[in-house]
Amino acid sequence: MVNSLFYSRLYEWYEIHHRVLPWRETEDPYCIWLSEIILQQTRVAQGMEYYMRFVARWPKVEDLANADEAEVLREWQGLGYYTRARNLHKAAQMIGESGFPQTFEEIRALPGVGDYTAGAIASFAYNLPYPAMDGNVYRVVARLMDIDEAFDTTQGKKLFHKKIEELLDRDHARLFNSAIMELGALHCTPLLGDNCQTCPIQEFCAGYAHHTAELLPVRKPRPKVRDRWFTYHIYIKGERLKVKGERTPVYTLIRRREDKDIWYHLYEFPCTEGQTDDAYPFTHVLSHQKIHARYIIHKVQKMPEIPGTIVIRWEDLNDYALSRLTLRVLDTLKPIRQG
Ligand code: SF4
Repeated sequence: MVNSLFYSRLYEWYEIHHRVLPWRETEDPYCIWLSEIILQQTRVAQGMEYYMRFVARWPKVEDLANADEAEVLREWQGLGYYTRARNLHKAAQMIGESGFPQTFEEIRALPGVGDYTAGAIASFAYNLPYPAMDGNVYRVVARLMDIDEAFDTTQGKKLFHKKIEELLDRDHARLFNSAIMELGALHCTPLLGDNCQTCPIQEFCAGYAHHTAELLPVRKPRPKVRDRWFTYHIYIKGERLKVKGERTPVYTLIRRREDKDIWYHLYEFPCTEGQTDDAYPFTHVLSHQKIHARYIIHKVQKMPEIPGTIVIRWEDLNDYALSRLTLRVLDTLKPIRQG
């Protein structure tokens, strides 16, 4: 059982050890929301760079609402999970009209916002008494209370939610959520080493007392990952030859993904799918899919007519929001890319 000493130990530790993160230094709900959406599925170091760029380019939610979706996707390029960017833009447009929502329920109703994100925004921006259960918090709670139920099942989520509600310091939700998340991120880490020896809440930790901490938290078995094989067809027309002192441009074909599949609305080279005996030098892992990719360069005099594709100049490729895999393929083609 925890008592006031538990909270004071946790908060003292937090005051000394927390990282200085720009979105934790503000109570502006727009900045907090932006950071939370960027940080879903993204590491802090990478997310920081994107967060700074977004805030610099669109300092207010109205600015983001007025941006083109294509611009937002382009700025998002490299972060993956592009649905987040589309939802971010859609939500900005909703917020822009009516002001940033101030209750948990209204925040939760924004596109792309789940229970965790709504709890994080409600507590960090308004100090409202809602927990913010991210992966770090699940781990700390599982160990602290020695819970061996999988946290990622419907039943497990309910149980963990009940436990964190009991643990939440309702008068200081902002501080409590920040501190417990940071403890999970920096101290009660997946690989514990001898961190328990210096843990500020060790005396309250059932997982430590029962020697089960290393085994927690428990996850449900992972779903099978589906393999897919992509062949990109890179059509090149034109040579970088000097004609009357001028270089002729190189053209290529790209298409926008329209299917409700991965990378919706992003651009890539025309792609065929299916396994062949050839080697696939690129592997790109998504949450439930493993993409094996290769490419073939076709030097042509006349571009083939492939439905849905457009002809663009090679140097304009960077003006399109490209999937991360396409960017990786392009990186290996730098000499062509740079002309
Ligand atoms: S004692 Fe160990 S397992 Fe328990 S909260 Fe601290 S670091 Fe985590």
